[in-house]
Amino acid sequence: MVDNNKLEEFKKKINSCEKCVLAQTKTNIVFGEGNPKSMIMLVGEGPGENEDLMGKPFVGKAGQLLDKMLKVIDLSRDENVYITNIVKCRPPKNRDPEEYEQDACIGYLFRQIEIINPKIIIALGRIAAKKLIDEKFKVSLDHGKWIKKNNIYFMGTYHPSALLRFANRKEDAFQDFLSIREKIKELDIQL
Ligand code: URA
Repeated sequence: MVDNNKLEEFKKKINSCEKCVLAQTKTNIVFGEGNPKSMIMLVGEGPGENEDLMGKPFVGKAGQLLDKMLKVIDLSRDENVYITNIVKCRPPKNRDPEEYEQDACIGYLFRQIEIINPKIIIALGRIAAKKLIDEKFKVSLDHGKWIKKNNIYFMGTYHPSALLRFANRKEDAFQDFLSIREKIKELDIQL
């Protein structure tokens, strides 16, 4: 059973983080959002402008698309998923987070995973998939493939921002989401 207090305490603890330069330009730390008892966790790259202002992950256009895709497979951040990012502070001008920034922050994600204890983790986009699944991960080749590590099923798929730019990838992403649905059934996860 997940200890909600543990997650809240941990959130407070990292609020004053200054491990990397992103702390100097951020407005808010974007810790994560969703049901902390969820068996399914989604991990993006890092907060964008809207997320930085609101202190919540995936609240801009990409987030709206993500919410729609989740809905198709009967998931929602209010009920049965937890959403967070590789880096918790916004990289200026939405640049990719540098490797050392990711390394400074990754321990926070690992602690969130430890507390929430999900059965499924979905990496949204290249940065998250490389960090969580395989350094050589290529979204166009490797999306939709499941791997099991430490008793958790991982899958990488397209980042919703990429789907907004390249609509022709939406069908592949949709198939990946259907595969999440199948994995939930296979593992007999109660939503
Ligand atoms: N893109 C991400 O990777 N994460 C967010 O929270 C928002 C946009």
